[in-house]
Amino acid sequence: MIIGSHVSFGKDQLLGSAKMAASYGANTFMFYTGAPQNTIRADINADLIDKAKYFMQENNIDINNIICHAPYIINLANKEKVESWNFSIAFLKNEISRITKMGINYIVVHPGNALKLNKMEALANISEAINYIIDEDTLPMILLETMAGKGSECGINLYELKEIYNNINLKDKVGFCLDTCHLNDSGVDIAKFDDYLIEFDNEIGIDKIKCIHINDSKNIIGAHKDRHANIGFGTIGFDNLINVIYNSKLKDVPKILETPYINDYPPYKFEIDMIVSKKFNANLEKSVVDYYKNGLNF
Ligand code: FE
Ligand code: FE
Ligand code: ZN
Repeated sequence: MIIGSHVSFGKDQLLGSAKMAASYGANTFMFYTGAPQNTIRADINADLIDKAKYFMQENNIDINNIICHAPYIINLANKEKVESWNFSIAFLKNEISRITKMGINYIVVHPGNALKLNKMEALANISEAINYIIDEDTLPMILLETMAGKGSECGINLYELKEIYNNINLKDKVGFCLDTCHLNDSGVDIAKFDDYLIEFDNEIGIDKIKCIHINDSKNIIGAHKDRHANIGFGTIGFDNLINVIYNSKLKDVPKILETPYINDYPPYKFEIDMIVSKKFNANLEKSVVDYYKNGLNF
């Protein structure tokens, strides 16, 4: 199983991220190259990349499974303000060249927000933007994330995702990232995940799924909210998430936790334990607090 969580990318860059992931018992991770809410980015340090690669080799983390996530404020869907659309395109291009230097294969992107545009126009803008961003020489793959349907989000069902995908020229450089909380909130019943996979396979192709965000949801199916919950503490439930994680058709797809911190501490070490052992830990909060705050060892 390829499992990890999102981690930060601090002053030690990829090396810091890899060390954090290893401390959670993860064998992969997802990082933002800076704060997810802004586009301020430090220069990539080649020495830290080398050290990170060495550290990962020693710690059973395969660089081929590492995921980068683009910042939220990138919006490829709306070009009414053409400067901000151009900025989003330029930023993503730059982000792709930064991760190419690091040897990272995948970047997850939220398709965008239509704002006042009609959906079809917005979806066409997203494809057009991606056609500007990627060319024959682009190495990393852009992964479009399935969205919850909050506000004017694009990519909230298979129809919209397929619409974007159909208008992309270099289809071998674009894939998809499923997010279990987003799917639930957009109206997909994760208890019937196999049906969704069949539908995805018919519409787009299951081999295009390159990453799965594993989150429980604080809201009911179809709520269009997007509030993540810890594994087994939301409306999707532990067993349904375990079925997604262990689905034999998605064996080689990296699974990434984006669940909320508990009392300001990361829950991932204990959520990964739950997933690997397939045993729900009803005392997750106590485990996390004992470990990080009280320094108890496990
Ligand atoms: Fe995301
Ligand atoms: Fe996500
Ligand atoms: Zn989300």
